[in-house]
Amino acid sequence: MQLSDSLGRNINYLRLSVTDRCNMRCFYCMPKEGIVKKKHEAVLSYEELQLIAEAAVGLGIEKIRITGGEPLVRAGIVGFLERLARIPGLRHLALTTNGLLLADMAADLYRAGVQRLNVSLDSLDPKIFSDITRGGDLKRVLDGLDAAERAGFPPPKVNVVIMRGVNDAEILDFAEMTLAKRNSIRFIEYMPAIKEEGWQRYCISGNEILQRIADRYTLEQVDKGKYAGPSRDFRIPGAKGSIGIITAVSGHFCNECNRIRVTSTGQAKGCLFSDQKTDLVPFLRPPDLEQLQKTLREIVMTKPERHGISCDGYAHQNFAMSQVGG
Ligand code: SAM
Ligand code: SF4
Repeated sequence: MQLSDSLGRNINYLRLSVTDRCNMRCFYCMPKEGIVKKKHEAVLSYEELQLIAEAAVGLGIEKIRITGGEPLVRAGIVGFLERLARIPGLRHLALTTNGLLLADMAADLYRAGVQRLNVSLDSLDPKIFSDITRGGDLKRVLDGLDAAERAGFPPPKVNVVIMRGVNDAEILDFAEMTLAKRNSIRFIEYMPAIKEEGWQRYCISGNEILQRIADRYTLEQVDKGKYAGPSRDFRIPGAKGSIGIITAVSGHFCNECNRIRVTSTGQAKGCLFSDQKTDLVPFLRPPDLEQLQKTLREIVMTKPERHGISCDGYAHQNFAMSQVGG
């Protein structure tokens, strides 16, 4: 079955957040003081999250990415993933993590049936990494990346949010990582989710990032696979890995958007930067698969044509990305 929105876009991808808690505090994602803890009963149970996943797959969703907050901090996550991986019709199960717990959990995640990992890593310098994440330990993330490959995963995609004056001096270091390593390094434009004073100073466009690499290296375009997502991918000739640019702000790719999102409290969103969300809880407590599917279909049908953010301004309400899942 194919799920399409009112503009004819094929919607085959669900980003499902399992928690808004995190063991890091990246400054661009979460306020310093963290976020107000949700009451236990506000967070969906694994049974409820699974029902959403089954409903979505029944409608035509083929790929689910588990995200958060940090998904690996939620107790019981491995068993949940194992059950998700068995949903008939689900073709691709992926997970995005900050990597802090990956060294210990990679083998279990692989056994559970997760097919791909994305690991967020914004600096190769321990001090800058710790500053961005407000205390994160770079070595643990690098160990996690190695452990993922030892466990049998394809080399994880590495997500790097580039911010001017923070980590943009490392663009070439990350690009050069691909010479010897098979990972795909994906440079993500900083998105103004939290309205921090002077946020514009961090903005750096994907084209500038690409140009800085192209000033040193030849880049050849790489074809992408069906579930590859919105990045434009390149390779330095002879390199083992690839380089991707995700221009969510400067060159929006809304015309190719294929996704919906559901938060850990059951709020469904058709667009990351829309203030519109739909509460799925009434269709989970008690469970009502028919109404759940009807509502998910409506969310797909009312997906906005495009988001309104740019580096000049934006209209959405302030939100912590950790609550929506990125
Ligand atoms: N904790 C996991 C992690 O960090 O990978 C998963 C959740 S995190 C919200 C998902 C992705 O959103 C990460 O790659 C993160 O870098 C990205 N992200 C968060 N806030 C962002 C922002 N303001 N601009 C761009 N990317 C952001
Ligand atoms: Fe946590 Fe990921 Fe947000 Fe960083 S980006 S605070 S690791 S949820």
